[in-house]
Amino acid sequence: MARRRVAIAELSHETNSFSSVPVDLAFVERCGIVRGPAVIEQARDTATVLAGFIDAAAEVELELVPLLSVWITPAGKVTREAYETLLAVLLTGIERAQPLDGVLLALHGAMVAEHVSDGDGELLRRLRALIGSRVPIVAVLDLHANISPLMVQQVDLLLGYHTYPHVDQREQGQQAGRLLGRLLRGEIRPTTVLVKPPMLPTSQRMTSDRPPMRLLFDRARAMEHDPRVLDVTVAGGFPPADVPEAGLSIVVTTDNDPAPAQQLADELAALAWELRHGFLGGVATWEEAAATIRAMIRGSLVLVDIADNPWSGGPGDSVELLRFLLQQQARPAALALVRDPEVVAHCRQAGVRATVDVVLGGKTDSLHGPPLRVRGRVRLLSDGRYINAGPMHAGVTADLGRTAVLAIEGIAVLVTERAESPIDLNVFRSHGIEPTEQRILALKGKGHFRAAFEPIAEQVVLVKGPGITGSDLTRLPFRNIRRPIWPLDLA
Ligand SMILES: [Zn+2]
Repeated sequence: MARRRVAIAELSHETNSFSSVPVDLAFVERCGIVRGPAVIEQARDTATVLAGFIDAAAEVELELVPLLSVWITPAGKVTREAYETLLAVLLTGIERAQPLDGVLLALHGAMVAEHVSDGDGELLRRLRALIGSRVPIVAVLDLHANISPLMVQQVDLLLGYHTYPHVDQREQGQQAGRLLGRLLRGEIRPTTVLVKPPMLPTSQRMTSDRPPMRLLFDRARAMEHDPRVLDVTVAGGFPPADVPEAGLSIVVTTDNDPAPAQQLADELAALAWELRHGFLGGVATWEEAAATIRAMIRGSLVLVDIADNPWSGGPGDSVELLRFLLQQQARPAALALVRDPEVVAHCRQAGVRATVDVVLGGKTDSLHGPPLRVRGRVRLLSDGRYINAGPMHAGVTADLGRTAVLAIEGIAVLVTERAESPIDLNVFRSHGIEPTEQRILALKGKGHFRAAFEPIAEQVVLVKGPGITGSDLTRLPFRNIRRPIWPLDLA
């Protein structure tokens, strides 16, 4: 049998509807738009879904047609121009690549454009309209996808990650490629059921190694032992995407057998509902965090502000963590990161070893605390690029834009041009800061940091800063989510 021609593409954005930072074309270009053969060159041997597609292609003998790879840092809504431009690149590429035998896609599943609330569903609808019903589409979605009926209708099969932090992206890409191989050989006929219990959990307690998520995943994996079952996906969802599909999703795909798909999906939805209270809490107040630090005799603490998490669409320029650290005694401490291009420019002008007086952070909006006037010494200037050691995103190049490390009263503060979540030890090591030597490592994040930082921390404390990515959903003025929904309306 001749090798089957399969187009591959990645188009990933997690949209925070409450972010004041629109994702326009310049924003997307800054994140990087990779086209053609470079898609494979860049992704090969990285811990990504695309790398998994490449693995599977070798295994099941697919001829890959690489079209596009765009991973857009989470932020606000995608502008009409950016959305239509990206879809045009993808769909024109598909058109030119015809005849195709299949399509493999790496999507997020929580993209919102200013004119399209279900960005991923609409993408899949247009793709299906273009290639027709006979060419199979298999898509891999993020664990934080807000899966919609439209997405499920338009694909032959979709599957999500099984981990948070997302350390199995490559495995799921590979699994998607294998399932496409079986589809192309006519071995399976997927039937899919989507069930969405009325739940809008926040993700600070969605990590896959502890309850409640671990219990849901354990049950899902057990269900996959049933020979009729092709895939069971539990997606926790992304609440600050203010759309009807926001929230938890259960997707069960069986081989030409809808009844057990429905039964298993209903069972998992009921289990999720039963476990719902386990998704709440787990976040300290500043006072509680201060008490933890006072009680530390030795050892190290990883302190995480979850409300300004760049990878949930936070602007990254809150200085509340720094304001807090300046009031504590524990040193040495290091903070990643504060996005402030003005301060980076100022530090570059002043030069390494110069002392600067700056007004730092708090400039994007009024939701993440006011700026902070500080005096610091410029310790280091960098291009802000480094390669992740992993486990999550191992081999992937991170790009913070130009950066400066400011030493402020014994605290090393990483100031950047771009907002990305610090998920890897190399965010510090590439800036001359040894993370294992700090008493406090202050981060902005939610769950991904755990993959690299939990092994080196004696304690981890999540803390409630002000911001649009926190655990208190009553702070967000929702207009479009399904109501009633837990935990806002239902107990
Ligand atoms: Zn995610």
